[in-house]
Amino acid sequence: MSAPATEGAAATALRSVLTRAQQAAERCGRSPEQVRVVAVSKTKTVSLIRQVYDVGHRCFGENYVQEIVEKAPQLPSDIEWHFIGNLQSNKVKSLLAGVPNLDMVESVDDEKIANHLDRMVASLGRKPLKVLVQVNTSGEESKFGVDPSYCVQLVKHVKLGCPNLIFAGLMTIGMLDYSSTPENFEIEMGSTNVRIGSTIFGAREYLKKDKSQ
Ligand SMILES: *Cc1c(COP(=O)(O)O)cnc(C)c1O
Repeated sequence: MSAPATEGAAATALRSVLTRAQQAAERCGRSPEQVRVVAVSKTKTVSLIRQVYDVGHRCFGENYVQEIVEKAPQLPSDIEWHFIGNLQSNKVKSLLAGVPNLDMVESVDDEKIANHLDRMVASLGRKPLKVLVQVNTSGEESKFGVDPSYCVQLVKHVKLGCPNLIFAGLMTIGMLDYSSTPENFEIEMGSTNVRIGSTIFGAREYLKKDKSQ
């Protein structure tokens, strides 16, 4: 019964997030059009995503293959989906075949996954796919992403060895401890791709037990 209020809240929250991202862009000398907000919609319903779509947003992020391939066909085809999760080689075909409007994979962190994506784009006859190389800048072992020392080599591999991929930049992973490495979080550092989930869509159910929320 509370659904309409929640849906309205997501659209309002999106507007506020877009305004804040634009202001941060201006403060660091970027033009607002250079900053893309990826609305991270994992665990959220198709109807809630639709509410955010209906106020004009087109860029959404998901991190599980099974979830994105279920949701994408139920939503408009002009959505630009970003896959932001850890991607296993054996899921590449489902992802690319199941989401024709997949715009970007943000989580390329080794040559093997880059090669799988490259070959699958070719074999499905898709247009070239944008990718970000994900770098573990926080140095935490639990996080995905290439070690910074290997980053240049992986970017070269994508650019020179994967003709069906378009290298679109780096995704850096910050440490959860904001206070010790605040530079990992300030979008005023010049970020052009910002992933925002619960601030737009509300807290995810499975996070309610999490003390950090
Ligand atoms: C869930 C998720 C986000 C968004 O997290 P929020 O705290 O809800 O904004 C960002 N990046 C990745 C990789 C995620 O899985």
